[in-house]
Amino acid sequence: MKKPLLLFLIIACFILTGFKDSPDFKIRVAILLDASSAKISATGRFKIFAPGKLEAVAIGDEEAIYMIQSGLFGLKMDGPEEYGDILEVKPLGDSFIRVNNRTYRGEIEVRKRNDTLLVINEVDLEEYLQGVMKHEISPAWPKEAVKAQAVAARSFALNKKLKNIGKPYDLCATITSQVYGGLSGEDPRSNEAIDETKGEILIYQEKPIAAYYHATCGGETADVENVWGGRLPYLKSVRCKYCKNSPHYEWEENLSLLEISNALSRKGISEIESIEVYKRGGTGRIAKLIVEDEFGKHIISGNQFRMALGPNLIRSTLFKMKEKRGRVEFKGKGWGHGVGMCQWGAKGMAEKGYNYKEILKHYYPGVKLEKGGVE
Ligand SMILES: [Zn+2]
Repeated sequence: MKKPLLLFLIIACFILTGFKDSPDFKIRVAILLDASSAKISATGRFKIFAPGKLEAVAIGDEEAIYMIQSGLFGLKMDGPEEYGDILEVKPLGDSFIRVNNRTYRGEIEVRKRNDTLLVINEVDLEEYLQGVMKHEISPAWPKEAVKAQAVAARSFALNKKLKNIGKPYDLCATITSQVYGGLSGEDPRSNEAIDETKGEILIYQEKPIAAYYHATCGGETADVENVWGGRLPYLKSVRCKYCKNSPHYEWEENLSLLEISNALSRKGISEIESIEVYKRGGTGRIAKLIVEDEFGKHIISGNQFRMALGPNLIRSTLFKMKEKRGRVEFKGKGWGHGVGMCQWGAKGMAEKGYNYKEILKHYYPGVKLEKGGVE
């Protein structure tokens, strides 16, 4: 058996059977990518270790600040000495490490990567979720919706961990994964929702699911096949009649053909003469568009179109458009990629009395909710 596959199976097995009994299950989050330096301090005492050296290479307290930079052959800390490609920063007692003034639970690892720094926060899964929740959903929303979000975010993190085996980190701290703000991103109400669902994950075919979520679907969630490709039965379109109160339920935009041409120029498209829908998915979302320029017709996916124009301008792929005298009027519904759980819909369901399990089973059809491998 190939090594990565074996490792995958061991970790998959551990996720399903072991982590109920292992509350210190770790997630590695890239908090800085390609940084030129990292300012390390802490709320109390801490130590910095270099691989191969038993003793700490630095010991600090709440007054200490170390600037870590990439040297010619290794990492440097305020002096000429170089320490190899990795430095580990560990808190002592009840202190927390700060990186560039943001405070984190767990440990920090600084890696030299080419001539820049990659900074990773290694943190317990449940504590990682504490730093994610406030950024991804309002803690003031009904408890069952916040709990549904906690289970989705936990499943998403473990799914990424399995996918990224062998890589230095599991997830980024930005919107490309889940927005993570460390200790400063926490809220007691979302922490409560995490505690009340502790260890619970969504499972499909014995693996934690890719539990994508988005702000508002606008009536029907998207089929993943029409957004990023691939087929996952639990990420197929479902009807949602619960997000009508979302401020993002409907949107309108008006753009000139020239503005659209400029946005698409990086895709090798020049001045657009016309634009029309080529194919809609089963849910009415735009799967493909045809744009015509002087060189002919180009087919572009709805998601590529949305990303090129800007996801906050073309807020979803569930839209109609009308072209008139060189301008295009867009009328759309929802905000976000539309895949998986609709967060405003989860709020609407919670307000109607559904619990978090019912909410999750609605948006991720066919999955099981498990705790450490036991239903
Ligand atoms: Zn919805």
